[in-house]
Amino acid sequence: MADADAITELVNQLTRLPGVGEKTATRLAFFLVEAPPDLSRALGEAILSAPGRIRRCRDCGTLTERDPCRICANPSRDGGTVCVVEATPDIAAVERTAEFGGVYHVLHGLIRPLDGVGPDDLNLASLLRRVSSGVVREVIVATNPSVEGEATAMYIRGLLGPQGVRVSRIASGLPVGGELEYADRATLGRAIAARVVL
Ligand SMILES: [Zn+2]
Repeated sequence: MADADAITELVNQLTRLPGVGEKTATRLAFFLVEAPPDLSRALGEAILSAPGRIRRCRDCGTLTERDPCRICANPSRDGGTVCVVEATPDIAAVERTAEFGGVYHVLHGLIRPLDGVGPDDLNLASLLRRVSSGVVREVIVATNPSVEGEATAMYIRGLLGPQGVRVSRIASGLPVGGELEYADRATLGRAIAARVVL
């Protein structure tokens, strides 16, 4: 049963990835064991080498090979408007809307009290530092319209309110409980354009 064990082990490891259930993992595992060796080798090498090449941007916290990242280093971006997102892929989602010319700040999570994730676990200290520098005029909180996304937005308003900066939230139009990363371009673009002051 050595062969079955190898497949089971591959399935077990794949189900540790976010968004991969047992069904998908099983399909991928059977694909991988019969895939051309160069595919498995290239995939394995990319998985192993990416973490060593990727770091967090010192300004916005996004995962990047360049520090500061391409957006923070771009002088034509408006450093006075900061869009706060949960995770790095959300930046690509907002960029696709072409509604936003400012810079970003990546929290690397949301406040989830039930999972023991509090404000100190998020990339918030550097957001407060950025705002304290006086360059920032507006912070747009673009977290998912979920309970955790709303709670995190409210926390940020409380944190930054005393700094005298305008804190806004992307407007509804996004499905409640939905995820920014998968929102269609027009809906997310409208949500940014019609953001509301918190
Ligand atoms: Zn950056």
